[in-house]
Amino acid sequence: MSSFNCAVCHGDNHKLLHSLEDGTLLSCQFCGVVAFFPRPTCEELKAFYDGGYHDTFSKSVMAESIFAQHRYQALVKKMHCYAPDLMTKKKRTLLDVGCGTGDFLQVVQQAGWHVTGTELALDAVNRANQKVSGNVFQGDITDLALPCCSYDLVTSYHVIEHLLEPIAQLRRCYELLASGGLLFLETPNIGSLGARLRGKRWSHIIPPEHIIYFSPFSLKYALNQAGFEHFVVYTTAPQVIESTAHWPFPLKKMADFIYQIVPHIGLGAAVQAIAFKP
Ligand SMILES: [Zn+2]
Repeated sequence: MSSFNCAVCHGDNHKLLHSLEDGTLLSCQFCGVVAFFPRPTCEELKAFYDGGYHDTFSKSVMAESIFAQHRYQALVKKMHCYAPDLMTKKKRTLLDVGCGTGDFLQVVQQAGWHVTGTELALDAVNRANQKVSGNVFQGDITDLALPCCSYDLVTSYHVIEHLLEPIAQLRRCYELLASGGLLFLETPNIGSLGARLRGKRWSHIIPPEHIIYFSPFSLKYALNQAGFEHFVVYTTAPQVIESTAHWPFPLKKMADFIYQIVPHIGLGAAVQAIAFKP
């Protein structure tokens, strides 16, 4: 069996975080990234995603159009705060990396942006292209011939945790951004209250789908490794709290309240980053 080598800092000093049925989650003692070990091969991942992944995905709550609208509204709020000039620009360009079946891209396009998407699974690409008229390409951004230095905003929602080479992808995002552009990304927070309380039963621990897990600290480290020098990283409450949906009313109310409070101390369910290219 190959030895552990951190995909972010290349360190080999690690600690066992969880023993799972088909492997382990190891925590890098240097940068804090948590990774599934043994690392799947590219071929294994390809076989997994070619096996109808988006059929399940498109039926989940994450893919609904109303969810995409909430996601866009939250993004706009952040952009008004961190990039107000972008929101008044006449021609605004957005690249959504890992756009799935294109619901979010459709909302962004309707709001007046010029949109481009990328996605690995062909069936999802086809569905997305029906929504945004042919602006979605199949493949990984590190391989696709997209124009460098040309996007005002690159978004990537719940993609980085699926990747074997997250730094290569972040570097490519940097390359594709226009000068003055921003990267917005979101991933589950391995340092969240939910992850701490639920341990290996945390809902995001689903290898080989999720193979690398970030906290605010390790995401900052990764952005820096990829060439970003200026960024803000924070945690957020989930838009939809599925785990408490069927709880009795007073308990659900209390849990929802806690979910809204913990992001203030870095324990929110997701980590978001806004990274700037000078
Ligand atoms: Zn590391």
